[in-house]
Amino acid sequence: AISINGLKKNFGALEVLKGIDLDVAAGEVVCIIGPSGSGKSTLLRCVNLLEQPTAGTIVVNGADVTDPDCEIDVVRRHIGMVFQQFNLFSHLNVLDNLTVAQRKVLRRSKSEAEQVARKNLERVGLAGREASFPAQLSGGQQQRVAIARSLSMSPSLMLFDEPTSALDPELVGDVLAVMRSLADEGMTMMVVTHEMAFARDVADRVVFMDDGFIVEQGGPHQVIGDPQHERTKTFLSRVL
Ligand code: ATP
Ligand code: MG
Repeated sequence: AISINGLKKNFGALEVLKGIDLDVAAGEVVCIIGPSGSGKSTLLRCVNLLEQPTAGTIVVNGADVTDPDCEIDVVRRHIGMVFQQFNLFSHLNVLDNLTVAQRKVLRRSKSEAEQVARKNLERVGLAGREASFPAQLSGGQQQRVAIARSLSMSPSLMLFDEPTSALDPELVGDVLAVMRSLADEGMTMMVVTHEMAFARDVADRVVFMDDGFIVEQGGPHQVIGDPQHERTKTFLSRVL
């Protein structure tokens, strides 16, 4: 679970997050939508301290990551993150991509790491591709490998930042299907996305951000189907 209170983030004089309060319960899927530059990525990156918050607190699974005494590496182990760019190791095959951090960070044995990797490759529909190199896979397959790699670290929550925006349209569906099955399995997820159909079908809650604030949040049918704020309406009229 995640509890964000009074979160502010400035880059120099630029105020990007202006006071965000957001709770994500265990097993909940929260989709974050909003215009470019509204602070969606910055919000996600603050959760695992890829960005240092300027003010406020973020509690992840009971640990306050903004506390200077917090062991952030331990907290990060429980947080999977998937980006628009897949960030696979291009010189390693799929199996090695999935086992290297398990062995180095979690100290799993080779055989255990490989067993976990194979299970997660199957989960994303890529059983049998262990020996392939990233360049031999489509963008959608690479992104599913990236998801499987995150899952192999046994995270308790997953952050997704526009995981399908770099993909050709015909490859988007396979990646969204994997994310949907994760949601169905009860994974706690924060998903920044422009895929409104996904948000409508899969999110427990949709959060609309604009200009560093949460403008509106609620169930998907409420926020996407019946938005209350003018800025939400304008945004949706552009993307729907
Ligand atoms: P998009 O939909 O385009 O991905 P976003 O909602 O994810 O947008 P952010 O990436 O969080 O927006 O950026 C919010 C603002 O913060 C932008 O004005 C951006 O230029 C600025 N910003 C983000 N990262 C940095 C950084 N490291 N240094 C300076 N400014 C930054
Ligand atoms: Mg972004």
